[in-house]
Amino acid sequence: MSEALNGSRTTTGEVAGAWLDGGWKAPFGDAIMRTLATPKRMLVRGEGCRVWDVDGNEYLDFLAGIAVNALGHAHPALVDAVSAQVATLAHVSNYFSTPSQLELAQRLRVITGAGDRGRVLFGNSGAEANEAAFKLARLNKGPHGRKTRVLALHNAFHGRTMGSLALTGKPPMREAFEPLPGGVEHIDSTIEALEAAIDDRVAALFVEPIKGEAGVLDLPEGFLRRARELTEKHHALLIVDEIQTGVGRTGRWFAYQHADILPDAVTVAKGMAGGVPIGALVTFGWASDLFTQGQHGSTFGGNPLATAAGNAVLAEIERSDLVGNAARRGEELKQLIRSFDSPLIDDVRGHGLLIGIGLTDGEAHRLSDAALANGLIINAPNESSIRLAPPLIVGDAELAEFRERFGRALASL
Ligand SMILES: *Cc1c(COP(=O)(O)O)cnc(C)c1O
Repeated sequence: MSEALNGSRTTTGEVAGAWLDGGWKAPFGDAIMRTLATPKRMLVRGEGCRVWDVDGNEYLDFLAGIAVNALGHAHPALVDAVSAQVATLAHVSNYFSTPSQLELAQRLRVITGAGDRGRVLFGNSGAEANEAAFKLARLNKGPHGRKTRVLALHNAFHGRTMGSLALTGKPPMREAFEPLPGGVEHIDSTIEALEAAIDDRVAALFVEPIKGEAGVLDLPEGFLRRARELTEKHHALLIVDEIQTGVGRTGRWFAYQHADILPDAVTVAKGMAGGVPIGALVTFGWASDLFTQGQHGSTFGGNPLATAAGNAVLAEIERSDLVGNAARRGEELKQLIRSFDSPLIDDVRGHGLLIGIGLTDGEAHRLSDAALANGLIINAPNESSIRLAPPLIVGDAELAEFRERFGRALASL
């Protein structure tokens, strides 16, 4: 233990001893649960769109902690807000409210479009937000008798806790943990499959509007609008999981806004507090009346530290029009990727700064490793897809740098 701690870093990111030259890998393998593969690098510091590893190498970060570091690393707006809040009041329990909690709830009501009838339930992660949404679905009894069915989409990812895993449409993740909470049926992501499946016994339809973990797969044109019509007709909740797509990532505040609809509930997490753990369920209209006192709760959920971080992030996104930046830079980045004209690149998917690159060969892991070796962090969610989710602050310099490093990685395969 003391041996391993010799490698601890100082706050300036300087590192001594045992962590250098891959020396961290054995302690990682020893102490961290086997659920995680050995990471590719040990990181010690970040600034803007860059991070540095323990050996002093610099990387352009086009993953942003999987769409989390919306403002990049060590953004002064987030650093100042969190520092000030932790020096004032970090946590109070749900017996008390705080100004930052109410401010963030109000901000979420505005940017989601839920407005005055919107309500917010705070948690600490995406999975927890979806757990809350699942409980909300159970409370939808409907006017026509008992609702027993919950619909979700094949290949959609909703989290790893038992309830959110029940919603997740990826059998290999689920099988070891069955039986999971019941009633969930997975359907194909087509309008026809939805029309065939939905009826008055459906309590809720869960939709991931762009399937991030599946490789950034867009829904078919018109799916969300049809889903809105059908769920309304059958008094089913339309619940949109915007944990990865939300908070400006796709070039709108939320991806459902591209389809010009309002859902009954939306789950938000990843990018909302720029790296401080947070999650939220936001309800709209009649869905805001389903939960009653005592039916859900969380010790940390909505605490002043996390909500202050959320306010800082949302305020900075507004101040610097990062939603607009995501839309513009996303288009530029897609153009840039297409301009490589590589036989390896099959298609370019996604919206704004959530971009998937479909590969002709199953070379995604090799390509992401080659990128890393060339100072670029990207991600291979599966063998045939590359995912890009850079900080929303990317500009000309970062795009130029990406072109160079990604080009070198492509050429090296
Ligand atoms: C990441 C993610 C989740 C789970 O969030 P956690 O914070 O990891 O629990 C759920 N849904 C989607 C769409 C996600 O991208």
